[in-house]
Amino acid sequence: MFGENMVGAGELNPYENAKKQIDRACEHISVDDGVKTWLKHCEKELCVNFPVKMDDGSVRIFTGYRVQHNTARGPAKGGIRFAPDVNMDEVRALATWMTIKCAVVNIPYGGAKGGVTCDPTLLSDGEKERITRRFTYEIVPIIGPEKDIPAPDIGTDGQIMAWMMDTYSMLKGYDNYGAVTGKPIRVGGSRGRTSATGRGVMFCTREALKKKGINEKGARAVVQGFGNVGSWTAKLLHDNGVKIVGISDISGALYNNEGIDPYDLYEYALKNKMMIKGYPKAEEINEKDLFSLECDVLIPAAKENQITSSNADVIKAPIIVEGANGPTTPEGEKILLEKGVFIVPDILANAGGVTVSYFEWVQNRESLYWKEAEVNEKLEAIMLESFYDCLQYSEEHKVGMRDAAYILAIERIADAIKVRGVFP
Ligand code: NAD
Repeated sequence: MFGENMVGAGELNPYENAKKQIDRACEHISVDDGVKTWLKHCEKELCVNFPVKMDDGSVRIFTGYRVQHNTARGPAKGGIRFAPDVNMDEVRALATWMTIKCAVVNIPYGGAKGGVTCDPTLLSDGEKERITRRFTYEIVPIIGPEKDIPAPDIGTDGQIMAWMMDTYSMLKGYDNYGAVTGKPIRVGGSRGRTSATGRGVMFCTREALKKKGINEKGARAVVQGFGNVGSWTAKLLHDNGVKIVGISDISGALYNNEGIDPYDLYEYALKNKMMIKGYPKAEEINEKDLFSLECDVLIPAAKENQITSSNADVIKAPIIVEGANGPTTPEGEKILLEKGVFIVPDILANAGGVTVSYFEWVQNRESLYWKEAEVNEKLEAIMLESFYDCLQYSEEHKVGMRDAAYILAIERIADAIKVRGVFP
C-alpha cells in the first residue's frame, strides 16, 4: 500500500523505525540477545478510554496512552502529546526514543511517552482542562515522581502540566511538584525549561557548523515548525547571527533570502492564533519547497516522518539537526548519508528539553531553585559533552551520528541491566 507521495506504509511506522535503529546500532557492538530483544519491547503499556463532559453538555469518549519503555537507568520520563493522530505505535516509538535519549545525555532516567487522541485547536480551555484532569486520573496508578514523570510535547504546554500536577497532588493529598515537569515557574517550574529544547538544538547546530567548517555568523538555516522547539531554535540561532531564510508551520511556509526575524514573526504569530501564514515580511512558498531551499542547515522541528525516501534527494543542506522526534525515516536517512549529509539525530539534538526537565525535578526535590544562567550553563555542558561523545563514537565505529548515539546509549543501558541483574 502506498501513500499519496509513494512512500511505503511500512516506512512511516515510527515504532518499526525505532526498532530498526536499535538493530542497526547493535550490528556494531556485542550486545546480549536478551537485552536487544528487551529494548525492542515496551515494559508497560496503558491504554485508557475515558469520558469528558463537553461545553455543549454532551459526553465524548477520548482515548489516551501512557507507555513506559525501559526503566533500567531510572524512573521513566517523557512527554504527553495532544494530537489527532496519536496512536499506540507512535507512543511506543516516542517512549523508546526517550530511553535512548536519556542514556545519550547520561541523565538518570528511563523512557516513557503518553498522549491523548484529540485536536486541541478545536477544544476550549475548559474542555482541555477536563481532558487533562481525567486523563491524569486514569494514568495515576503508573505515574509519579519516583516512577514516571510526564512533561509537555506537541499540543501541550505549561498550563496543561500545571493541571496534571494539581490533579496528581489532589489525588495524593499533598503537593507533589516533582510529579510532572515543564510546569510554569510559579508552581515549581524551572527557569530556562521553555527554551531548553531549542537551546539544545542551537548548541548542536553551532557545533555541527564548526565541524563542517562553516562560519555561524551569516550561515543560512531553514526551520520546519514554529511551535515551542522551532520558535526557540530560530530565535536563539538568530541571536548567534544565523540567517533564518525559510520557516514553516502547519499553516504554510515562508522564505526570505535576507533572513526572517523570528522575534518579529513570533509577535505576528501571537496575534494570529500562533500561525505564521500571512506574515508580510517574507514570501509565501509551497511547503513542499521548504526542504529544497539552499541553506547550510535544515532543522525539522515539527513532527515525525517529514524526511522520507520520497523527498530526501531534494535536500541541499549539508547539515540536518533534528529538533523534532523521528523526523527522518531510516530509508530517508540512507539517501542523506550517501550524499554525505551530517545528521545530528533527535536523540541528541532535542535532548535539551528532557535535560532541563531533569533539572526541574532535582530542584523540586530540593525545594531550591536555580537562576536561569545556572540552568543554561549546566545544559550547555551536558549538550557539548554528549555531542562530542557521539562524534567520537561516530569516528571510532565509522558510523553516522545516529548510530553512534544509539551505540553509546545501548552500551549504557546494557551496563545498567547487567549490574542490576534480572529480577527475581
Ligand atoms: P508544538 O505543538 O509547540 O509545535 C509544533 C509545530 O509544528 C507547530 O508550529 C505546528 O504548526 C508545526 N507543524 C505541525 N505539522 C506541520 C507540518 N506538517 N509542516 C510544518 N509544520 C508543522 O510542539 P513542540 O513541542 O515544538 O514539538 C515539536 C517536535 O519536537 C515534536 O516532534 C516533539 O516531540 C519534539 N520535542 C519537543 C520537546 C519539547 O520540549 N517541547 C522536546 C523534545 C522533542
